[in-house]
Amino acid sequence: MDTFVQISIYDQGRSKEELDPIVDSAFKRMEEIECITNNYDDSSFVSLINREAGERTIALDSVMYDLMLTSDRINKLSAGAFDITIESVKQLWNFSDDNHQIPGDSLINQKLHWVGAEHIKLEDNRLQFDSPDVNIDLGAIAKGYAIDQAINLLSQKGITDAMVNGGGDLRTICSALTRGKRRVWIKHPRNSDVLFGYFRMDQGSVATSGDYERFFIYDSIRYHHILDPKTGYPARDCVSVTIQAPTATEADGLATAVFVLGLNRGLELIERLPDVEGIIIFERDGKLDWEASSGLKKKFKTS
Ligand code: ADP
Ligand code: MG
Repeated sequence: MDTFVQISIYDQGRSKEELDPIVDSAFKRMEEIECITNNYDDSSFVSLINREAGERTIALDSVMYDLMLTSDRINKLSAGAFDITIESVKQLWNFSDDNHQIPGDSLINQKLHWVGAEHIKLEDNRLQFDSPDVNIDLGAIAKGYAIDQAINLLSQKGITDAMVNGGGDLRTICSALTRGKRRVWIKHPRNSDVLFGYFRMDQGSVATSGDYERFFIYDSIRYHHILDPKTGYPARDCVSVTIQAPTATEADGLATAVFVLGLNRGLELIERLPDVEGIIIFERDGKLDWEASSGLKKKFKTS
């Protein structure tokens, strides 16, 4: 997943020998999700879909089906700000290697033609694109999904207190062992030596989308990996968006969606959704500032 993954288990009843295989199976499940969803691996299921779904109908497995349904839901909730068909435009930007360039308007507009939920047809578990030029990218949601799968597996094995953390996106389950004790920290978007702040959370999921994860600077302008499907350019209004939600899939997807929507429309979406909270860091006149949704405003402490 291009990041570290940490699984912590709190269990006073069982030995390390009993718990180790459970942790191993959770890691293995996350690797399986990675193998299915990785766009950079030609043998992944998503790569096969991108090669063939414009030509024929593809029967989805349960993982891909879940991801397509959740993506569709977040696409609708965000009025298209979250859109997995962004892949065609994303390929122009080359964030994954050092050969950075600005693609130019005409190329971007050409590719934008293939961005939009209307290009995807999903009937039961059968998927088809309306053209071979359509491509999808699950990078904004797959990590959250893998974290959920790991937590589900731990719960099934009787674990009641744990945290799965993938590069700062995380989900916890809580028992009396950790109740009232967990803090979730948010990274400082412009200074990796310090943390921006924290809030307390017993049980739930948290994901952050930031303009500092994958980016390059060109002519003093920051170009980063969260793209606005309307323009094909990096979304400009936010610096970092942290979402708290019941599942990590929702938190991951909504963090990207809210980032693209920007401060005002993003906060509106968060407030509309029950059980979802968020913290948005933004820059105005060269200074960082933040806003939180009503349920986190008093709980969030800057450091
Ligand atoms: P991170 O990968 O740093 O955790 P995100 O969860 O925000 O950050 O995912 C960013 C990735 O999502 C990008 O690298 C790209 O693959 C994809 N993406 C970019 N813009 C969008 C968008 N508007 N809708 C859906 N996916 C997007
Ligand atoms: Mg995301």
